[in-house]
Amino acid sequence: MLIKPKSGAPPVQLRFGACKFRHEFGGPAIHEGAIPFPNSVAMHRMLTLDLADEAVPIYAENCQLSFLPLYYPLRFGFGGGEAQYRIVSEHRIEVLHIGANSHDEESYPHMDMFPRRPFQLQAIPYKHFRALLMSEQGRSFTLSTEDRELLRELDAGRLSFLGDGLLTLGGDTAWQCKNQTCPWSDQYVSLHIFARIAGSPYAGLEIFGQHGSDVQIYFGLCQMCGTIVTFNRCT
Ligand SMILES: [Zn+2]
Repeated sequence: MLIKPKSGAPPVQLRFGACKFRHEFGGPAIHEGAIPFPNSVAMHRMLTLDLADEAVPIYAENCQLSFLPLYYPLRFGFGGGEAQYRIVSEHRIEVLHIGANSHDEESYPHMDMFPRRPFQLQAIPYKHFRALLMSEQGRSFTLSTEDRELLRELDAGRLSFLGDGLLTLGGDTAWQCKNQTCPWSDQYVSLHIFARIAGSPYAGLEIFGQHGSDVQIYFGLCQMCGTIVTFNRCT
């Protein structure tokens, strides 16, 4: 199943609350293959994106897929290192790589799954996104009063968003695709980042525990084969 980015898709933010589409944050792991090793625990289902919503910056080419699941290996490698998986079908994923040999014995950080929460995708206005980029990429500048107000309106500390070709903070994104059938599997290539989830996406939920609110989870694609790559970065 080939998953591809929609070129030029504008950035959209998660707004928790009812939505006509069936986007969901959290919930139990429901895909076959979400448990990467025998007798292991499941990866965390972070987001489930309803592909009927045109705001989703991803599509499935030449195949029928209604929902795109974004899983993260939170219980593997002390808070999750990296994982790569491919979408096999509506109900099955195949883990191609995970940055740990087994799951962590200690319950890290606190829950086996996150409570289900619906959300909608809302466009991020140009000037708000510009203020966000300035705050993250232009740190040698002092932010203007207007930009600080825009970031407050955006609730930037809790912002999770999707988009076409996002930038990461704190590290490059050259990865080796672990899909053995991918023509790029032996090469380091730039990932196409399409989603970023805040360490504390809403009040009361700290994905990485009390001191992890500056950690963010990213999702990207190998543009050749559609393998999904997930990892975290600290701001
Ligand atoms: Zn690939």
